[in-house]
Amino acid sequence: MSVEALEQLVDDEQVAVAHVPSLSPSRAADFKSCPLRYRFRVIDKLPEPPSPAAVRGTVVHAVLESLFDLAATDRTLEAAQGMVAGAWSALRETEPDLGTLFAGAEAGEEQAWLSSAQALLESYFALEDPTRLEPAGREERVEVQVGESLTLRGIIDRLDANAAGALRVVDYKTGAAPSEAWESKALFQLKFYALVIWRTRGVVPAVLQLLYLADRKRLTYSPTEAELVAMERHLLALGAAVEHARATGDFRASKGPLCGWCDHQALCPEFGGTPPPYPLLPVV
Ligand code: SF4
Repeated sequence: MSVEALEQLVDDEQVAVAHVPSLSPSRAADFKSCPLRYRFRVIDKLPEPPSPAAVRGTVVHAVLESLFDLAATDRTLEAAQGMVAGAWSALRETEPDLGTLFAGAEAGEEQAWLSSAQALLESYFALEDPTRLEPAGREERVEVQVGESLTLRGIIDRLDANAAGALRVVDYKTGAAPSEAWESKALFQLKFYALVIWRTRGVVPAVLQLLYLADRKRLTYSPTEAELVAMERHLLALGAAVEHARATGDFRASKGPLCGWCDHQALCPEFGGTPPPYPLLPVV
């Protein structure tokens, strides 16, 4: 299951019990880029058809998680590439809807897609040597409460710790590295995790690292305590803005570069659409 799908599941669990103000990095980024898109995804829960690129990312993440189950000397590129077909079939078992991902596709398209996942793993091995690593955590669920009632939660791809206890937060991206202008947006997710780790373990992670497999680039950053304090303030303000929007139903559309990847243009006023009635009408 993809990290986004897992985060959504955790959000749904909370909603099923009672509404608990909470943010994950993905949902926080959604609200920051377009509050209406956040509403469509989190409150209306409108379906979004999976794309082959997104599902490939999930498969590659699953392989990179399982790779570290092997003894260090067995973590070879061949071993990783040999896990791709199994990871794809395991994913289809947990998410049967994915069985139709290649329905109607040309012959050989699924095989080419599997090969492209193997090529991304080759890129991973060009960036890191997994035989030299023993992660302290993989696909780790983290959660902390900040302020009076805001819960921050997420799932960290990998957490490394050295002998001195210094922590490194690692996130795999199957896309290409962003331009310099977009780097701070890319680091938002890792600073979010750094804050949660700091608040739960009392240690500011020494390094945040993004590994971009499509173009074999690495982005690293060392956060300071002051930055994490600022991040916490920012997230508390964001959480308050989300709660205000939930209470009033006022989720504005915010047109931007991400509209091209939005599945809900047909319902968006910016594109001539009309959103469905707001399902959480305030009690009067
Ligand atoms: S199309 Fe753009 S403005 Fe409209 S909901 Fe999607 S992201 Fe927001």
